[in-house]
Amino acid sequence: MATTAELFDTLDPATGEVLAQVAESSPADVDAAVDRAHAAFAPGSPWRTMAPSRRAAVLWRIAELIDANADELAEMETRDQGQPYAIARNVSIPAAAEHFRYYAGWVTKIEGETSPVSIPGVFHYTLREPVGVCGLIIPWNFPLLITAWKIAPALACGCTAVVKPAEQTPMTAMRLGELIREAGVPEGVVEIVTGGPAVGAAIAEHPRIDKVSFTGSTEVGRSIIHAAAGNFKRVTLELGGKTPVIVFADAPLEAAVGGVLQGGMLNSGQVCAAYSRVYVERPLADEFAQQMAGAAATMKVGHGMHADTQLGPLVSHEQLERVQGYVQSGIDDGAQLLTGGDRPGGDLSAGAFLNPTIFGGVTEDMAIAREEIFGPVVVVMPFDDIDEVTGRANDSDYGLAASIWTQNVSRAHSLAASVKAGTVWVNMPNPIDAAAPWGGFKSSGWGREMGKHAIELYTERKSVWVNTNG
Ligand code: NAD
Repeated sequence: MATTAELFDTLDPATGEVLAQVAESSPADVDAAVDRAHAAFAPGSPWRTMAPSRRAAVLWRIAELIDANADELAEMETRDQGQPYAIARNVSIPAAAEHFRYYAGWVTKIEGETSPVSIPGVFHYTLREPVGVCGLIIPWNFPLLITAWKIAPALACGCTAVVKPAEQTPMTAMRLGELIREAGVPEGVVEIVTGGPAVGAAIAEHPRIDKVSFTGSTEVGRSIIHAAAGNFKRVTLELGGKTPVIVFADAPLEAAVGGVLQGGMLNSGQVCAAYSRVYVERPLADEFAQQMAGAAATMKVGHGMHADTQLGPLVSHEQLERVQGYVQSGIDDGAQLLTGGDRPGGDLSAGAFLNPTIFGGVTEDMAIAREEIFGPVVVVMPFDDIDEVTGRANDSDYGLAASIWTQNVSRAHSLAASVKAGTVWVNMPNPIDAAAPWGGFKSSGWGREMGKHAIELYTERKSVWVNTNG
């Protein structure tokens, strides 16, 4: 609980309405949260002595409480972040619960091993121990889901955590903190601290935090690496992306247009793996771009709480201005605006809305083809052969994800192997799942969250040697 008197507003980006005032935690608040997380991690504490089977039951209970409060959490997410209620209620909130259920299963399966060392008279084994107090820093695009995908494995491994939601979207993380306590997690095990970049920086450099897991921009990720160097924190980074989508001429046109549009416009394009640069084999390229533009133009833009809304607002006016800057740069660079680029008027004029935007006539050197826009903007470019498109897809600082559309299975597998990306989707939009590893090559980050790989991130391996000669 913050002691600071300083508060900031969290807004509904669709209307500008103030939803709540939230504490801007001070450095002393962060210190106090770290102290409580340390006390909860101390040997002999209720958390450290809890049997694995009981800890698993507690994680499962958190999932049940998320499910039981799903309507409330979904509305909170929609109002705070902007995403359509159907996305919040059917994707973000259930997936958050799934992460707790998935890692509940892991608690009783975190094992050491015996090692066949070649030194006689010695028995060797390994232990897996929780890494300690973890700093978890969350972005604003899928607030509850990303909070869950970090907290669940941290708790499964027996760690404690100081969690900072993004300043734009703190509501569901604060509510999750209450549900975690209600589920039976002891005091101090999960500490939620609210506030902006200074609070995140205090976590990243804190000498008594053992590990930091950060999801956010590549630029801030770089600063986390420097901040974490002080005490050699373990660092996991899930950063930006510029997902190449490669559509071959044999792809079924309607399914490809629908899937790519869905992958590009989900959450108004505020998705790290958004289908943002689309390479289409030349015979299909013009037709594909026209159909994408036509389908995008029919998308219903509106407040996330309206039942027919397909595209909500951007998270803030600041983000809207950033995305509009990219739209203008595309126009200035000579790209062809096929649809969108403008803002809806009427009732929506006060909100941070941008109409779905598709560019054609794009060349590789343009900022809209190279930089992460994080908005409802997709660029379409033609290609001629597989080697050329592989080179273009890989010519990026990012390597988070890629997408391939073809009916040729051999080509799909060979391209999946040669594209430099942490995740490849073939003939489908871009879902994630608790069981599938997630993370990027190159400037898209370090490490793989989700799946069994996250257990590595939240444990240390200890090597134990025992002299059996005596
Ligand atoms: P951001 O980097 O601005 O902020 C992310 C979080 O870091 C926020 O909680 C913020 O308060 C905090 N922060 C800001 N400055 C900090 C500092 N100096 N030290 C420590 N913490 C700091 O990112 P954002 O704008 O919230 O999110 C958008 C970015 O996140 C995009 O680049 C997107 O690609 C990326 N993202 C990546 C993934 C992934 O899984 N790879 C998922 C979602 C979002």
